[in-house]
Amino acid sequence: MASFKWNLKTLPFGTQSINYHLDGDFFRDKEPVEVLSASVEVEVTMTRKTEVDYEMSMSCRGSLTIPCDRCLEAMTHAVDVTYQLSVRQEGDELDDSNEKVLIVPASWRELDVEPLVRDTVLLTVPIMHTHEEGECDQSMLSALQAHEALEERERDNAEAATDPRWEALRKLKNNN
Ligand SMILES: [Zn+2]
Repeated sequence: MASFKWNLKTLPFGTQSINYHLDGDFFRDKEPVEVLSASVEVEVTMTRKTEVDYEMSMSCRGSLTIPCDRCLEAMTHAVDVTYQLSVRQEGDELDDSNEKVLIVPASWRELDVEPLVRDTVLLTVPIMHTHEEGECDQSMLSALQAHEALEERERDNAEAATDPRWEALRKLKNNN
């Protein structure tokens, strides 16, 4: 795959673009989403405007296979997002606190766009992501519900064991 490291210093003025194909490995073990597999086409376009000013655009299209939050079975999440960002080389500290303008140290020769691309794709996944209503795996749902009911019973039993009223009752019983 083409390198994600863009050499800013030698970039010609004008617009350059590079296409990338992202698979499951690109997202392996990355927070905050567990990606089982992926197929996303990305086009990164960088326009050098001055010695130190760049406009960057990332278009990402494809899909991710991720576990459903309700039934835990695999679901498909469609990705279709474009993110634009100004990049400026200035000073000696990286500042990524602004969503629209990324400040990178003047001394940097390269900009690694890999984390930017990854975050752009992963941010399209809602915090709570589930199958469409009625499309969850029913057998998994029943198994999960049974498991939850069991845990709840165990919790109740544990609470009963330490409930002071229960303790008082037991003492009362023992005294009689
Ligand atoms: Zn589901």
